[in-house]
Amino acid sequence: MFKDQFPFFNNKPEQVYLDSAATTQKHASVVAAVNDYHLHHNATVHRSAYQIANQATALYESSRNSVAKLISAKSSAQIVFSSGATESINTIANGLHKTMLCGSKILILASEHHANLIPWQKVASRFNLKIEIVKLSADGCFTQNEFDQFSKQLTADVAILAMAHVSNALGNIYPVKEVCNTANNLQILTVIDGTQAIAHMPVNVEDIGCDFYVFSGHKMYGPTGVGVLYGKSEHLENLAPFKLGGEMITQVSYTHAEFQPAPLKFEGGTPNVAGVIGLGKACEFLLNNIVSIQQHEKECYTALLEQLEKVSGLRILGNVRDSIGVVSIVLDKHNISDLAPLLYQKHIAVRVGHHCAMPLMDFLQVAGTLRVSLACYTTMGDLDNFMRSLQLSLTVLDEGESGLDEQKDSVNELLPLAQKIKSANGWDNQYRQLLLASKSLKIMPVELRIPDNAVFGCESDLWISVQQNQLSAYSQSKIIRGILAVLIEKATELLRSEGSKNADDAAHNAAAEFDYFDYLTTLKLTPYFSAGRRDGLQNAVCAIKQKLR
Ligand code: PLP
Repeated sequence: MFKDQFPFFNNKPEQVYLDSAATTQKHASVVAAVNDYHLHHNATVHRSAYQIANQATALYESSRNSVAKLISAKSSAQIVFSSGATESINTIANGLHKTMLCGSKILILASEHHANLIPWQKVASRFNLKIEIVKLSADGCFTQNEFDQFSKQLTADVAILAMAHVSNALGNIYPVKEVCNTANNLQILTVIDGTQAIAHMPVNVEDIGCDFYVFSGHKMYGPTGVGVLYGKSEHLENLAPFKLGGEMITQVSYTHAEFQPAPLKFEGGTPNVAGVIGLGKACEFLLNNIVSIQQHEKECYTALLEQLEKVSGLRILGNVRDSIGVVSIVLDKHNISDLAPLLYQKHIAVRVGHHCAMPLMDFLQVAGTLRVSLACYTTMGDLDNFMRSLQLSLTVLDEGESGLDEQKDSVNELLPLAQKIKSANGWDNQYRQLLLASKSLKIMPVELRIPDNAVFGCESDLWISVQQNQLSAYSQSKIIRGILAVLIEKATELLRSEGSKNADDAAHNAAAEFDYFDYLTTLKLTPYFSAGRRDGLQNAVCAIKQKLR
């Protein structure tokens, strides 16, 4: 319905983009406005009075009006431009002072994005406040039960309530209006993270009654590097600016500075003018279309759920019926990070991992989820494509469970794992060989999976140990286990290469100094490395080296 308004898809017609909760594609009007600014009005804002500087300032300030209109703020002076939701929340957290807080607790939802958690940890230690978590059900749902529990936690003791309007990891829509209503009566400062709501539903900050509302431009069809902090006027007045420098002042001497009133006191330095102008266009697009966007996404979401519910061995976390277009999936039998490369190979963009909500994953007792997230440009065709690829990928993984033992006999067992992987023809065969290799890994006993042996930074839990020159490892992901088997095969070969029964110093050195990462690259295994996995495997390589030294 909206897809032809997004130029990205003209250039990448084969791409099935289901990762809009991470970032959305950009609307044509946004791309045009950013270009137009660079081509015709490029000047800085609020500083000069020559013609293009005035034009740039007018475009920039007109975006502020569009944002105010989009969220029904009383005044555009309540709209502060930032680099994104993260900076907006940090601006609030850093600018608070004691007089704005009455109470001894910060209340945070269990599903919060790290951006709406870590800044509050710092506030808690600065003002000696206690963080209290609002719980979800064991499968990530927020129902009447959780709401009742939450209501009991909303007491006069709470100084700050920080919560998302919509969870990025689960898609749960939270009752922000009801909560803010109670919070206002108790003088609790409310910070609502609207990052995952703003592109999917009408937002009215006056109606919600929150003290602050934040979001990012790039998740609402606008540019990256720009975002919004909305605040009630009295709070913006009280909040201290933390980006100090040019533009945000009225008077400066060597020893003293007077600040502009909000919003400019928070916009120190040269702002992202192009980004703000693009954001204004994204707001206009949403203002004109939000009702049909909401309707279209609901239809897509319902169709997707219907299909997913027919797949066995798959569980959807969070509020399934009352959710925005985010589906968070875990598999009974397989690690979702083994599924991801199979989907990527078929041009399906989805997100696998903790979604910047590690404590939530711990709470749900999962390593991560596969998140499918929709947007206005999602089509039924995209969803059919996704479902087809998902079914095919699950078949490959199921075969990995049952069929590989038969295959094992049919490959030449004399070849080392690395050779088998290198000589596998095509991506699918290589993937199968990695699944096969995972079966050769000497599995680390559970009692050795202790913090000393843990390797961090990977998308899956990972442990490595060396005992009497015997390397063992474990990861829930079969693909990671396959890669570990290849690494350990090489290290073991090097340890034995000097011919002595007990590996001598030279062998140890050779094994410890070997460039394992380069080795994986030679085996063409890098397509399996997302940024998270690459970091984790690099850490795994370091761990192997260290333990061998
Ligand atoms: N809050 C939520 C709910 C998010 O989904 C995200 C990004 O994923 C953020 C905050 C942080 O947004 P940004 O990285 O654009 O600052």
